[in-house]
Amino acid sequence: MRESVRRTVREERWQGLGVCDGIVLGRVLRIHNGARHIYRATLEEADVVREVRRWRAAVRLARRQLLKIKARAERVLGSEHAYIFDSHLLMLEDQKLLDDVESFIRLERANAEWAVKVVGDRILAVYAEIKDDYLRERGSDIEDVMQRILVALSGEGPRYRRLTEDAVIVSEDLLPSAVAELDFKYARAIATDAGGWTSHTAIIARGLGIPAVVGLRDLYRRARTGDPVIVDAISGEVILHPSKETIEHYDSLSADNRRAGLAVADNAPGPLRTEDGVDVVLRANLELPAEFEGVKRFGARGVGLYRSEFLMSQRGRMPSEEEQCQAYEEIARLAGEDGATIRLFDLGGDKAVGTFSDGERNPALGLRAIRFSLRHKDELRKQARAVLRAAAHGRLSIVLPMISDLTDVRQARRIINEERESLTRRGIPTGQVRMGAMIEVPAAVLIADKIAREVDFFSLGTNDLVQYLLAVDRGNDAVADWFRSLHPSVLASIKQTIEAARAASIPAVVCGEMASTPAYAAILVGLGATELSMTINAIPRVRRTVAGINAGEARKIAEECLECETADDVEELVRVRLGSRWPHLFPPKSLPAPKSQE
Ligand code: PEP
Ligand code: MG
Repeated sequence: MRESVRRTVREERWQGLGVCDGIVLGRVLRIHNGARHIYRATLEEADVVREVRRWRAAVRLARRQLLKIKARAERVLGSEHAYIFDSHLLMLEDQKLLDDVESFIRLERANAEWAVKVVGDRILAVYAEIKDDYLRERGSDIEDVMQRILVALSGEGPRYRRLTEDAVIVSEDLLPSAVAELDFKYARAIATDAGGWTSHTAIIARGLGIPAVVGLRDLYRRARTGDPVIVDAISGEVILHPSKETIEHYDSLSADNRRAGLAVADNAPGPLRTEDGVDVVLRANLELPAEFEGVKRFGARGVGLYRSEFLMSQRGRMPSEEEQCQAYEEIARLAGEDGATIRLFDLGGDKAVGTFSDGERNPALGLRAIRFSLRHKDELRKQARAVLRAAAHGRLSIVLPMISDLTDVRQARRIINEERESLTRRGIPTGQVRMGAMIEVPAAVLIADKIAREVDFFSLGTNDLVQYLLAVDRGNDAVADWFRSLHPSVLASIKQTIEAARAASIPAVVCGEMASTPAYAAILVGLGATELSMTINAIPRVRRTVAGINAGEARKIAEECLECETADDVEELVRVRLGSRWPHLFPPKSLPAPKSQE
């Protein structure tokens, strides 16, 4: 509270988009989104010695922090996982590295941060050229160490240490790399400047059932760690320095209202059918281990989408084959007989790539997903081996992200088959793995019939499909009004994809965020979807939705929607037609939902 005494403590309000319901009173914890902006400062000659001292002190601090982290990792993960920090400690003792930074500060009269960046980038450039997989991976260790020194220079401690029980995470955008640093057990709410309904912050928040508001524009700049804050994800409002009256008002709300975001688990739910007897299967989308426990609790029929790139963000580097194999085995165990679909790394775009990132101008259209894997074939081979080996112990499928051409499918399949043959030659057991394609690029929709002939299933990624069809950045709140899941072109694309799958007798699983919103789920069933995969917390709600609708009627409403001219028309029609027939699909708060929720 010392902070707030010094500063003006007038209540300030921000309106954003609530993406996971609930109301939380807590204290701000500012989290940088990962990419530090480093600037160069030229020092006065007299300040150089002090700067060198500051640099040495930061190295000592980083070392102390690393030793503590190592001890914690040993306790929590076991000593076999803590060895990684030994190499980081060795780097911090590398005399050449320390001397290089120090001479840079002296010769260039530069601030320590800039010296660390320049020297670090030079070393990273050398590592990036190395052909050997193992050595090249060490590049990300160097990045990690550099990052740690920069944190030490800024005087911040390791981030997870500051998570208190009432932490409200405030960030510009919560990149997967930042997510890895957080112990979400203690995070009460999330509030970010950027983001939309389908941004990864929103997906993570819903996966963990943490109330979240995104699109708050400049909250991060205005908030200070420790500031009292209220996050009302039901109205989408965030209140900094709430007045006594505001706090009393929120205190008076019932507990039910406050934690609306947490779904109530269904007890041992059986098969799911619409009123007129159409079977619908609900599966889980998974990113973080913290969500795993919910798969059984919420009655998911297996894992419809495992976003494997989160393995990288948890570690801040590419995971090894062993690490991946273990992770996939665990997912397979979790999914049981219903099986799990491992999506090959969907790196690039809005998902961090760390060492591999070349600062693309237009990352959403860049070296993303399958393109990344085909360009970094060693990584693809490694991932393929890990899934094939894990499949010997459970039911696994592979899905290829961002397919836009059949050549991508064929190349990936060839490589996966080669890896299977080589494992078999070496006597290493593998399991049968079905292979599917993500349909999330307009080109893939247009050739869905051709793709369907060459894959075992489709995963329909509506988040990217909307982004690419409508040319609207899914994470940019400035264009959130144009992100319209119910745009007639989106509905027509979904229908075309489902029909192509049906004609080829392969399943199509809808795994974008649309599937987790009751009114949208009803429309998806109306468009012919019978498999939906979603964030686990949404499963009980969507289950109730599907059980309470009639697929035949939903089909008629979906057909009417397809005839509409604009997204507004579809939204109005959905509200009126679905709302009058099944009012429970529109709880009071979500009435203006389809448009503003996007
Ligand atoms: C999608 O694009 O809809 C999807 C399921 O994948 P992601 O959100 O990870 O891009
Ligand atoms: Mg996608």
